[in-house]
Amino acid sequence: MSERKPKRTLRFDRIAMIIIPILVAAILLVLGIGLFTGKDKKNKPEPTPTPTAEPTPTPEATPTPTPTVDPETDSRFFDTDSYLIVANKKHKLPEGYEPSDLAYPEVEMRYNNWTMRWDAAVALEEMFKDAEKDDIHLVMGSGYRSESFQKTLYDGYAEESGIQYADSISSRPGYSDHQTGLATDLCGQDTQYDLTQEFEKTPEGKWLAENAWKYGFIMRYPKGKDKITGYTYEPWHFRYITKEEAKKIHDAGENMTFEEFYGISGGDYAD
Ligand SMILES: [Zn+2]
Repeated sequence: MSERKPKRTLRFDRIAMIIIPILVAAILLVLGIGLFTGKDKKNKPEPTPTPTAEPTPTPEATPTPTPTVDPETDSRFFDTDSYLIVANKKHKLPEGYEPSDLAYPEVEMRYNNWTMRWDAAVALEEMFKDAEKDDIHLVMGSGYRSESFQKTLYDGYAEESGIQYADSISSRPGYSDHQTGLATDLCGQDTQYDLTQEFEKTPEGKWLAENAWKYGFIMRYPKGKDKITGYTYEPWHFRYITKEEAKKIHDAGENMTFEEFYGISGGDYAD
């Protein structure tokens, strides 16, 4: 009798010793998986911000030191009184911008009675007089054009031949160098070369390419710089930027552009 009892208890103990740990292990396993997956679900949104935070400081540090000028932060390029105010297809002039010191230069005109900002008009008169001494007879073919004038001009081209064509030969209102009151289109005695690239071959075109900088004017759209300026070669379009600045650009090399010299973005419209 006494032999059976322990046998039974022993058997029960043995079973218990085998089953209980298995059960415990199974429960722990189930709980463990539950906890693990639960944790995983809870933590899932957390690991996502970690990788995004990493790339922010490192790669952005490299492009910053580039010696370019941001016209948005340098008043020389957006101040409405500045002679370096930028108007190109990437930089629009302030809404409804109109210079306050427009004047009629006392020079020979064609197509209209044009104005320019005071200092530019004075410089233009000086240039025309000096050209006469070299037997060169310049004619002013365009000057200041208001935003509404430019709108009429641009809309006319766009309506007739489409936006693509209008953009290729004209500026959208607010983007024109002529609206600064510092730009002029110059012509010679032979009208057939007016506003054509052949103007470069005329005595007036040659004289301007060589001498305009001395009076504070730069050829705004030189040959082969379309992608930088946003415009094809215009040997007739000159922009006043003061004698001091024009000399710097002239000395910087042949066909140097305003955009390249000051490190300003140009080219085509953003949209
Ligand atoms: Zn022009």
